[in-house]
Amino acid sequence: MQVWFSDQTDGFCISCRVKAVLHHERSSYQEICVLDTDVFGRMLVLDDVIQTTERDEFTYHEMLVHVPLMIHPAPRRVAIIGGGDGGSVREVAKHPEVGEIFLVEIDARVVWAARTFLPTISCALQDGRVKILEEDGIAHMATKREEYDVIIVDAPDPVGAAVGLFSEEFYRSCCRALRPGGLMSAQVESPHFHRELVVRMYRTARRAFADAAIYTSCVPSYPGGYWAFLLASRNEPLSLDLRGDAKELETRYWTPEVHRAAFALPRFLQEALEVVDREVSGRG
Ligand code: SAM
Repeated sequence: MQVWFSDQTDGFCISCRVKAVLHHERSSYQEICVLDTDVFGRMLVLDDVIQTTERDEFTYHEMLVHVPLMIHPAPRRVAIIGGGDGGSVREVAKHPEVGEIFLVEIDARVVWAARTFLPTISCALQDGRVKILEEDGIAHMATKREEYDVIIVDAPDPVGAAVGLFSEEFYRSCCRALRPGGLMSAQVESPHFHRELVVRMYRTARRAFADAAIYTSCVPSYPGGYWAFLLASRNEPLSLDLRGDAKELETRYWTPEVHRAAFALPRFLQEALEVVDREVSGRG
C-alpha cells in the first residue's frame, strides 16, 4: 500500500509519497508532523502545510539569510523570528562576524522536533552564539529599540500565531528594533498564488521602513516553486550590493551572481510593485 501526503493549502495539491511518519503531535500552537518521504527526504509539516524539507531547504534558508547578511557592512547581532527548524540559524552561523544569534520561536516543540528528527537542518542550534527564546516574535519586537543589525522573519503562512508577522505594526516594530544601517528579510509567499500578499507586504515595508525591495528564489516544495522574499532597510537608500569584504561562503544555492540575479523580477511582478512605488512617492 502506498501512503501519500498532500499539502492542499492553495486549492491544489503538492503530494509526495510517504515512507514513514516519524513524529506527530498537537502542541499548544499547532499540529506538528515529521514525515520521511521518497522524493524530499525528511519533511516538517505544521497544520498540514509543508515548512521545510531536507531536499530543498537550502534554496530557502540561504536566500533568506545570506542576502541581508552579505549586504550589511558589519552584522554582529542577528534575530530570527520563527524559524524553529534551525535552518536559518545554520546559515547565520556561517558568518564569523556575527557574535550573537537570537532565535525567537513561539513553539518550543518545533525546536524539539527539528533537533530530534532534522539534524542536518538544526545542526547549528548548539552553536555557542545562539540564544533560543521561546517567545512571540511580535511581542518581542514591540519592546526592542536599536538592538539588532539584521532581523530575519522566517514565518509560516499568515495564519494563527503568524498573522501578526505580516502586519504593518510588526514591521514598524522591526524597523525600531534595528540599529542604524539595519536590514530585515522576510519570506512573503508565492508571486503566482499570493500576489496580492506579496504586493501588500512590499507596500507595508515601503511605509514602515526607509526603503525595500522584493527578490525571489526557487523552492520546489512550496506552491508553484517560485518564492518571494522581502528586503527592507532602516536607512535610505537600500543598497543591494555585496559588501566589499564579502568572503566566499560554503553554500549550495547562494552565489554573488545568484544574489544579484534574485532582484531581477519578471514583468508581471515588477509592474505590480511599480504601482506601489507610485503610490508611496505620491504619484499614484
Ligand atoms: N520556512 C517556513 C515556511 O516558509 O513555511 C517557515 C518555517 S518555521 C518552522 C516557522 C515557525 O514560525 C514555526 O515553527 C512557528 O511555530 C513559528 N511562529 C509562528 N508564529 C510565530 C510568532 N508569532 N512568533 C514566533 N514564532 C512564530
